[in-house]
Amino acid sequence: MHKIAVFPGDGIGLEVTAQAMKVLRKIEEISALRFETEELLAGGASIDKYGVPLTTENLEKAQKTEAVFLGAVGGPKWDNLPSEKRPEKGLLALRKGLNAYANVRPVKMFPQLVFRSPIKEEIVKGLDFVILRELVSGIYFGSLRGIERLPDGAERGFNTMSYTTFEIERVARKAFEFARKRRKKVTSVDKANVLEVSQLWRKVVTTVAKDYPDVELSHRYVDDCAMQLIRDPRQFDVIVTGNLFGDILSDESAMLTGSIGMLPSASVGDKVAMFEPVHGSAPDIAGRDMANPLATILSLAMMMEYSFDQAVLARRIEKAVEAVLADGYRTVDIYTEGTTKVGCDKMGDLVVQKLTVA
Ligand code: NAD
Repeated sequence: MHKIAVFPGDGIGLEVTAQAMKVLRKIEEISALRFETEELLAGGASIDKYGVPLTTENLEKAQKTEAVFLGAVGGPKWDNLPSEKRPEKGLLALRKGLNAYANVRPVKMFPQLVFRSPIKEEIVKGLDFVILRELVSGIYFGSLRGIERLPDGAERGFNTMSYTTFEIERVARKAFEFARKRRKKVTSVDKANVLEVSQLWRKVVTTVAKDYPDVELSHRYVDDCAMQLIRDPRQFDVIVTGNLFGDILSDESAMLTGSIGMLPSASVGDKVAMFEPVHGSAPDIAGRDMANPLATILSLAMMMEYSFDQAVLARRIEKAVEAVLADGYRTVDIYTEGTTKVGCDKMGDLVVQKLTVA
């Protein structure tokens, strides 16, 4: 029996998580796996009930499971709260509390959705790479930070980007391990021509690479990488980079696929990992059975592979999603003329049906 903490969150988080849970129950039917799920509150739902976006008790419960699954948090109802009380703080507290130091975002182009990409078909067709972004250090966490008043009355704002050998090494190892299960290519992204912190980053990644002689390592400056992602994104297999560069490059990469409702993610550490769609709580469509649940279902596939070592099942879920798309079913965000429009709930049912057929 595998233990999973499930945080549906707010807005469409509830609707899309419900579809992923249907898929989870189907997995129990078609395999010998069994899952004990506990539904917990985070984000706005937790603020409404407990006054905080994540209680210590719920964090501790999550820490004691094997995997954490999250829908999305946030919404206009909580937008005017002070920053430490906002729903998103619950999410950050979860990632930090689980020491989930590497954010993994697969960037995959589904053949049926190529036309949605703002980039030409011949460039994005068959696209399939992963970005690993360091998540708990770097400039977002540097303690030397602030806005100070200068003697002449002007202000100066400053932050510090710092990485220790340990922090670089652990995320680099994750990248090489991912690459081993893929096409065995790691691209490390930095700004070593200007930043000392990047020079250390490059040195440590190069040293770690010696333990993975079967994986090819290359380095790129972040500005060059941003350009290559548009020029020839298919050259990449696994990209590993720091928090700030990863934040920007992963959003750029998401745009290549052209549809936020299709993108899953995982935040992994040494123990409990957390799985969630890339999108937010979409208050504009919440409660109307319009959300695309496929990003969340694909996050469940990632959970099967990363937390439960069930790569075959993960591929089966991905194939089921592809089959539903191939049959022409679309939620409104990916709908085009000639396809069949379905709601969130029906889309979940269709994926479950496809899983029945081995
Ligand atoms: P969003 O991702 O919620 O929505 C952006 C746009 O994409 C909206 O038009 C929405 O309708 C659409 N969209 C998103 N997911 C979709 C899906 N699965 N199917 C169909 N359409 C989808 O981003 P936002 O509007 O900037 O933020 C809304 C709220 O979500 C805010 O409170 C924000 O803080 C929060 N948020 C949470 C997370 C998270 O929980 N990980 C991530 C991003 C934003």
